[in-house]
This record gives sequence, C-alpha cells and structure tokens, in this order.
Amino acid sequence: MDKTSINMKEILGRQKQYFLGDHTYDIHGRKKHLRKLKQLLQENESRIAEAMCMDFGKSYFEVISNELGLVYSGISTILKRLSRWSGPERPPTSLLNLPGKSCVYPIPYGNVLVISPWNYPVQLALTPVASAIAAGNTVILKPSEITVHTSGLLAELINTAFPRELLYVRQGGIPETTELLELHFDKIFFTGSTKVGRIVMKAAAEHLTPVTLELGGKNPVIVLPDCDLSRTAQRLVWGKFHNGGQACVAPDHIYVHESIRDKLVEEVKQHIKKMFNGDARNGESLPRIVNASNYDRLQKLIDPAKCVVGGQGDRETLFIEPTVMTGVDITDPVMQEEIFGPVMPILSFRDLDTLLGKLKERPSPLALYIFTGEMRLAKEIQSTFRSGTGMVNDTVVHFVNGTTPFGGIGESGMGSYHGKAGFECFSHRKTVLRKPTWFELRVKYPPYTKMKLKIVKLFLR
Ligand code: NAD
Repeated sequence: MDKTSINMKEILGRQKQYFLGDHTYDIHGRKKHLRKLKQLLQENESRIAEAMCMDFGKSYFEVISNELGLVYSGISTILKRLSRWSGPERPPTSLLNLPGKSCVYPIPYGNVLVISPWNYPVQLALTPVASAIAAGNTVILKPSEITVHTSGLLAELINTAFPRELLYVRQGGIPETTELLELHFDKIFFTGSTKVGRIVMKAAAEHLTPVTLELGGKNPVIVLPDCDLSRTAQRLVWGKFHNGGQACVAPDHIYVHESIRDKLVEEVKQHIKKMFNGDARNGESLPRIVNASNYDRLQKLIDPAKCVVGGQGDRETLFIEPTVMTGVDITDPVMQEEIFGPVMPILSFRDLDTLLGKLKERPSPLALYIFTGEMRLAKEIQSTFRSGTGMVNDTVVHFVNGTTPFGGIGESGMGSYHGKAGFECFSHRKTVLRKPTWFELRVKYPPYTKMKLKIVKLFLR
C-alpha cells in the first residue's frame, strides 16, 4: 500500500462533515459500532495473535490476557454503563440563580486523533478508540509503525469494516504522524514516550487542541523489611518480565531495605526459575525485544559484572534473558533512562524518609509500588507521593482494574482514561443553566445602590 498517497485532510474533512451531521449522537448507534468492533476482533483472534507473534514473539496467552481480553472487557463495561454516563448530571443551583436549574451534559469533542505505541499494539490503540466512539466522536487511529504486522492487520480489518467517516486507521511512522499533527483535530490522545509527548503537545497548541498524554518513566519499587518476601519476589518477577519488561507500568527498579536485600535476591532467583523453567529462550512466556535498536539500547544498560541472574542475549532472535543486577548505583547507565526490557536492577536503602526524599525530587513516575505489611504507612505514602498511579503489594495489575482512572502526572503524562474516566476523557462537560422568565433578581441591574450591594453581599457570602 502506498501510505503517502492517502489524503488525510480529505478523510478528516469527511469525518468533520459526519460529526457536524449529528451522526454520532445516537447512543444506540455508538453501542452498535462498539459491538461490531468487539465482534471483529473476536472473529480475527487467531490472525491478530499471529501478527503479534511475528512482531515480537508474544504468546497467545498474553495476547488474550493483556491485549484482546482487556479491549473486550472495556467494551463490555461501556455497553453496560454508557446510557448512564451519557445522561445529564443535575447539580444544585446557587441561590443567586434560583429558580433556575443547572444541568451538565457530556458532549463529544468532535474529531479525535489517537496515536498509539508498539508495546501493547492492540489494547493501547483500541481502548482509547472505544472510549472515543462511546463518547460520540469520530476517530483517526495512528498505530505504531514498529509492530508492522499488527498495525497492518488493524488497518485492514477496521478500514474494511467501518465507514471512514467514523473510524479510520492511518498507518505510518514519523512523517505520517507529523502530517496528521498539522491537521485540526478537536482532541488528541497520545500514548508513547515523554520525548514524543512533547512534540505532540507543541503541535496541538497550534490549534488549541486538548491533549491526553499517556507517557512513560522510571517506576520505582520500595520493598520494606516487613513484607511477605516470597509473594513480593513472585509479583516483582511477574511484573518485570511480563511482556518482556516492555510495559509502561513495569516496575523499573527495586529499592529494597538493606536488611532483607540478600533474601529478596534469593527469592527473586527462585521465582525466575519457577516461571521460566530455567529456559526462557525456548519457551513462550517471554516475548522478544521488539527490534534491534531496542536490543542494542538494552545491552548498553546491562553491566555483566553486576548480573546475578541472566545478562546474556541473542541479537539474531532479539532475545534477552530475564536479568537481575545487584549493587546498582544511581549513576549506572541502567538508572539513567526508562529500562523497558527484561532487566531488573536492585538497589538497597537504609532510611525510608531519605529514600522518599530522593524519589520525590526525580520526575514523577507513572507508578509507585510499595511492598509492606504495614498498610497505614503504605497508604500514607501513596496518598501524597506524586506518581500517576500506585500499588501496595503488587505491580502492573492496577492497569487492568477497568473501573479506576489510569494516567500519569508531570513527566509521565496528563489526563486519564479507562472505564468512566475514558468516556470523560473524550467528552466536554457542558454546563447549561435554564432560567424561567417569570422571576427577575433586579439587584444585578444598574443603577447600583448601597442597598443592592448589601443584598449581593448577602447572596455571595
Ligand atoms: P514513541 O513515543 O516512540 O512512539 C509512540 C507513537 O508516536 C508511535 O505511533 C510513533 O509512530 C509516533 N512517533 C514516534 N516518533 C514521533 C515523532 N518524532 N513525531 C511524531 N510522532 C512520532 O513510543 P514507543 O516506543 O512506541 O512506546 C514506548 C513508550 O511509550 C515508553 O516510554 C512507554 O513508557 C510509553 N508508554 C506509555 C503508556 C501509558 O499508558 N502511559 C503505555 C505504553 C507505553
């Protein structure tokens, strides 16, 4: 396919006409499109799994458990709740405006651009698409060019099944995304790196287009001495090596209290052995690194002298062993960037307050993980620490909660989605105040008098 010959201005123009023709307002229509999207994916499950396997060796289990399954359950939640979400809210009206009535209507932004990354090439593309359609928008989706088979298949399936006035998949890399970013969308939803997030936001500013940015960062884990050591290690190993460590919510690096460091490292080794059967290379449980440039980048972060597990790789098959490094220092290369691969650096700490003080000075991460038996302390830290999300005694799985808002803060992003938050992310909350004509509060009209001022002050206390 000649990607450059597609006239995106024309497709967006058609989407604008479609939106202005009020074709997206009908809730039943929105639900029909979402059912169709779900069915399309269900009918093509094996093709999608094959494509993802070709792109980075993702297993069928993970395609269902953390890609398609999440899109299915996201759509099911929308179908169940959409009628309620899309109805008006009726907040109280202030005294000054009585006997008026206040209403807040969620209205669609209009024409939405969704730009998605490669690491969950279906789920991170279609979850926001489903929310955008649920909220009554049209969508152009630009999936990642890196997972070429999956993105190509998404384009083929969606562009055949859906009218391009409503939903269209534009394939391509930087030039195609740059071209899209020059157009006037009403909302841009971007998932990807912080570096590209800045580019997207700058481009959006040109048209005053609101953005939601779901970005990355280095997610720290704090392991306290009173944690359940074996469970902690098990959940850390799963969280780190799931999707080959290529997850925005992956625990990036571990700070363990020095009194239990050796014990935790031992437990981590045992759980790696159990989960990957001592042979991640030939099994299906560890996806491959997505491409050679990411493979080379990761190799530069691994210090063989500090590896207590793994450390080896094979560039030809883009395989990197589950790797654990100890004795890591904040100045090591592995601590200078988001790892995004199967490498677990373990650092130790002595004093929790000192550690928290240092973490607070770093860019706000997408997630903070704490392992402890002391819930009060964990809650105290999580309720004030500036990170997009957080967990106590587990990692990653809060992403699949479905009912709670998910999003970053500061360098890890802005805005949130999932469930109702997803619907709200693609809706403007429009306040309408209805006033009857039979009553008038005369005090607002000139000529202003002392008495009128007194009455206004009474109302505005
Ligand atoms: P990326 O930023 O390189 O690419 C994301 C999208 O932007 C792709 O569609 C790509 O084609 C486009 N793009 C890349 N460079 C561009 C440019 N110069 N101009 C315009 N568009 C450009 O990210 P990635 O490598 O695909 O994904 C990994 C990153 O995404 C990690 O940092 C990860 O933490 C983050 N991420 C965040 C979340 C989240 O929910 N917060 C989820 C997954 C991934």
